[in-house]
Amino acid sequence: MIHHPIIKVALPVPLPQLFDYLQAEDGSLTPIGSRVLVPFGRRKLVGMVMGHTTKSKLPPKRLLRIFRPLDHSEPLLDLSLLNLLEWCWKYYKHAPGEVVLSALPPALRRSEGKLPAPPVHYLLTRAGRERLEQPPGRQKTQYRMLEALAAGARTADGLKGIGSQWRKTLARLIEQGWVQEILAVPEPPDFAPGPQLLDGQQNAVDNISRDLQHFHCHLLDGITGSGKTEVYMRLMEEVLASNKQVLVLVPEIGLTPQLLRRFRKRLGLEPAVIHSSLSQGQRLEAWAAARAGRAHLIVGTRSALFTPLPKAGLIILDEEHDASFKQQDGFRYSARDVAIKRAADLDIPVVLGSATPSLESLSNAVAGKYAWHRLRERATSASLPNWRVLDLSQQNTFNGLSATALDAMTQTLERKEQVMVFLNRRGYAPVLMCQQCGWHGSCDRCDARLTWHRKAGLLWCHHCGSQRRVPKLCPDCRADALMGAGEGTQQLEEALEQHFPGVPVLRFDRDRTRGSGVMAMQLDEVMKAETCLLVGTQMLAKGHHFPRVTLVVIVNIDQALYSSDFRALERMGQMLQQVAGRAGRMDKPGTVILQTQHPEHPALELLLSQGYEAYARWLLEERQLAGLPPEGYQALLRAQAHERSDVEKFLREAIELFPPGEALAHGPMPAIMERMGGRSRMYLILLSPSRASLHRQIDQWLLCLRELPSSRKTRWAIDIDPQEL
Ligand code: ADP
Ligand code: ZN
Ligand code: ZN
Repeated sequence: MIHHPIIKVALPVPLPQLFDYLQAEDGSLTPIGSRVLVPFGRRKLVGMVMGHTTKSKLPPKRLLRIFRPLDHSEPLLDLSLLNLLEWCWKYYKHAPGEVVLSALPPALRRSEGKLPAPPVHYLLTRAGRERLEQPPGRQKTQYRMLEALAAGARTADGLKGIGSQWRKTLARLIEQGWVQEILAVPEPPDFAPGPQLLDGQQNAVDNISRDLQHFHCHLLDGITGSGKTEVYMRLMEEVLASNKQVLVLVPEIGLTPQLLRRFRKRLGLEPAVIHSSLSQGQRLEAWAAARAGRAHLIVGTRSALFTPLPKAGLIILDEEHDASFKQQDGFRYSARDVAIKRAADLDIPVVLGSATPSLESLSNAVAGKYAWHRLRERATSASLPNWRVLDLSQQNTFNGLSATALDAMTQTLERKEQVMVFLNRRGYAPVLMCQQCGWHGSCDRCDARLTWHRKAGLLWCHHCGSQRRVPKLCPDCRADALMGAGEGTQQLEEALEQHFPGVPVLRFDRDRTRGSGVMAMQLDEVMKAETCLLVGTQMLAKGHHFPRVTLVVIVNIDQALYSSDFRALERMGQMLQQVAGRAGRMDKPGTVILQTQHPEHPALELLLSQGYEAYARWLLEERQLAGLPPEGYQALLRAQAHERSDVEKFLREAIELFPPGEALAHGPMPAIMERMGGRSRMYLILLSPSRASLHRQIDQWLLCLRELPSSRKTRWAIDIDPQEL
């Protein structure tokens, strides 16, 4: 009996398996890590070869043949990356094909997608030089191009100026043997000197660079402005100088033009940038440059984690506490956790930086698993801000802003300084809320919040379709304090423009900064403006330098104080600390005004009197007592369906089937936003003192869940180490 070579292919379908195919009749075996085009039902799909075998569970007659291999030169993904992806699908219990294909830039998920040709330079040959010694004759354009090249090698871009027919001219010159095409060699980095490091920074740099050859996880725990970025850049210099690659992951790339500018200036090279709002072509270009080892500094968001790094030397994850490192749908991975796994696989160091470390990282640092580098001083003369807590229940408000806050703003603007007004934005749809008493529009028929349609002046229930007019005053307390939570920044912007005529108001939220370049433009304006008001969401809290901002007003934090999510207090502490870090960065001290209905809340008092580390350690103790993460290990079984009864039935049956062991299952319970998109969403919580047993039990459980008839009536998924309920 002949054993036909069979390839195991990952396909972008939501099934927990690889698929077996026969190799194309003529070809040799497609190598692991290469793409193939295969028949799947009636469709043609692009898949990734994950392995070879000679045996299949399918009978030979049912084995289909691939149409063709798609990558002709060499595999796209190397074994180390493929192994990481396999670890991911097993750890996160997600469909292998969806995991693997998500590691490719979108352009390569299509069969027409090809790796771009590496950039080339054009160089004058000896014969070309000789030709230049002759008079130009009739071929004037050719001669001009030769002259241009006599000054040194050029890229195609550098030749465009020479006549409209430059391509033809160039081809002609190559044909004549006067010009030669060579692979472009990347410019070596060109480091500019940085400031003399402070002791804390120097210690961190020394400590981390003592062993750059091996894996170790470092927590760079430094208050805002303590010079973490400076530490990163010193480390990057060392790694780049040894011709290795550095991968820097940041929460949101739109937020970091300043960071990129600093990298360019200090390191003298152009970072390859990878994030989802680039065009497919740009993304492919950057990815291919990293894969070929041409790009040495790769900066990107979560998904850049899976960029091939043939010369990997260091991974840096900035703002490691940021929730956006966890993907919240589909393949729900944590880029932080996978980055650490990847660094361990590659045996290179990983640096997690934050002014407000996550409790997960903090507990690893406390336990000595991570090297813990604390920076507790600001690198510049800027002093830490003063906090003022304003009791909202004692104040009149104007669009959510108290008279006291407005006075402070007026004074700050009169001193020609800048003010930042910060809104804690939760939820996605715009919702109308009373800033005085907390009233918010909810539907009489569903438990959904009403969505606020500002233009139409309507409150609308997107689940049952009922609607009503927007009230002028709060229906409960009659205050003139109705404000959108969600679209609120826009209304706040308008209110501020009214209240401070002539002062520029710049809004930073997702809507405003969606367009490319808007963020950079607005940041520029802030830098140039003397006085101005900045209004924004969480986005403003992250990583920016606003040297003239000396007053920060936080409109309201009360949703966080009384949330049912056990992470809410951690998030609130991080947010407050980050926002406060924006005040008084240069020579002028800053003030942070915090408006709340609950100034006496113990968590708030601890945070403000003793700082984030003490606060976080207290939260950590609470988690330990409750067995919650990071003390215990958590997973969710999430399910949704149009009919709540279908979801409930499935989850009730599922919990009965949960295998015995250290992990226990609780529920079902409704998601915090139970109805969304016309579906009921509920979940089971699995909590375990041991990670190993949690995974073992879930793996067993999954086998039975897939057999459950009720599972077919719902959309369900496992969420490992969930961040949101
Ligand atoms: P972080 O990333 O911790 O917020 P940065 O690295 O951005 O801090 O540093 C804050 C400011 O201090 C920047 O303007 C930076 O140029 C400056 N800075 C950092 N380290 C030093 C130093 N050792 N000496 C002088 N200025 C420094
Ligand atoms: Zn009210
Ligand atoms: Zn409704």
